[in-house]
Amino acid sequence: MPRPIEQTYRYCPECGVSAERIGEMPFRCTACGYAHFFGPVAAVGGLVVNRNEELLMVRRAQDPGKGKWGLPGGFVDPGETIEQALHREVLEETHLKITASRYLISYPNLYDYQGVVAPVMDLFFVCEVDAGDQVQLDEKELDHFDWVCPSPSRLEQMAFPSNRRAIEYWMRAKR
Ligand SMILES: [Zn+2]
Repeated sequence: MPRPIEQTYRYCPECGVSAERIGEMPFRCTACGYAHFFGPVAAVGGLVVNRNEELLMVRRAQDPGKGKWGLPGGFVDPGETIEQALHREVLEETHLKITASRYLISYPNLYDYQGVVAPVMDLFFVCEVDAGDQVQLDEKELDHFDWVCPSPSRLEQMAFPSNRRAIEYWMRAKR
């Protein structure tokens, strides 16, 4: 059963003493004072749009969300800016170089990795790329791509609700 990450802190990671109250946020060790805050980690998602106002969607080859659709993106690395993470993740996953981007909106997300669910803050950007640039997927992570005007049925097949909400927000804002 999926469980929130704070439930997995049954022992202090610093001194190893058993937790008195499992699942409390933040985790605080009564023996050594170590604290862990479980704050959301930052992630980026790119709404890559072509000249025909079609959106690049990618299908996930790995869990979480294997076989479902999403936006190129991923976690921000330590020491990286949000913008650097956006450029790096879109390049790594699709081989596209972002030529312009603008911040769109953020939505919280939950990331289930092997049953442990951690909070994520997804930051979405609308991105442009050169018209001649060709998509080459990172085939370990992604197995299909499409340039689409997202249909309701496609939006039903998305891996993460946050990605869906960002696309719906973008579609509403375009009108
Ligand atoms: Zn401790």
